[in-house]
Amino acid sequence: MKHFLFLLAVIFGAVPAQAGELPIFDTHMHYSSSAWDVYAPGDILKKLDTANITRALVSSTPDAGTMKLFDIAPGRVVPALRPYRTRADMARWYETPDVLAYSKDRLAAGRHKALGEIHLYMAKNLETPEMAEYLDMAVARGLIVQPHTDALVVEALFKKRPKLKILWAHAGFSEPALVVARMLDQYPNLWAELSYRAGHIQPDDDLDPEWKALLIRHAGRFTIGSDTWEVDRWHGYQGLINEHREWLRLLPPDVAEKIAFRNAEGLFPQQ
Ligand SMILES: [Zn+2]
Repeated sequence: MKHFLFLLAVIFGAVPAQAGELPIFDTHMHYSSSAWDVYAPGDILKKLDTANITRALVSSTPDAGTMKLFDIAPGRVVPALRPYRTRADMARWYETPDVLAYSKDRLAAGRHKALGEIHLYMAKNLETPEMAEYLDMAVARGLIVQPHTDALVVEALFKKRPKLKILWAHAGFSEPALVVARMLDQYPNLWAELSYRAGHIQPDDDLDPEWKALLIRHAGRFTIGSDTWEVDRWHGYQGLINEHREWLRLLPPDVAEKIAFRNAEGLFPQQ
């Protein structure tokens, strides 16, 4: 019970980050237009300082939000391009020529290191001429693709372009640990990011046994994410990070360090 109350305090952000705590590279951050009037770029950086976030993979709708953060913290922000000009683009971005033109324009400066987070609903979404161009650009520019999708679509992506590097958003969101394990076994260019997964990894005081075994066995393939897609998640940012630190503490220290920041540093080396 005591632990449970502490966990509640952690989740709701009542307990701040402690000095000397494990640094975290947040690989699923958004700074979209709905957050701009609530938190200025400097306010976001303060949140990262407080939560001991060393670096972050950031994307936004539209891309201007990512660049607002990148401009004031280029060593800390790794830009990812999400192709959406507005939220309305989410539904059909993969088959909309105007969205592709916007994406090419944004990528031209060469600052983005990833393509994502992108939403793909079905394998047939990959069968468009626009999508072929996105995938060619990702391979040619070495962009890591961060899809929010299920295991079937990840398999279809690798079938289309075996050279892709994929950082699977939310590790498939609802895919069971055994499915995530099978995918990581099969695809050496697959990494999995764990936003929205803390409750699956640590459903109560202890780690879920299947997740624990998976995180240890594939310690080199997981990263942490917050997914600040709406402003409420920025309000609760410290809690989202504390929730991850809570389960990281239950893993062997070398495994926890890899997942907290070392794997992400390997994917997005400091330049
Ligand atoms: Zn997502």
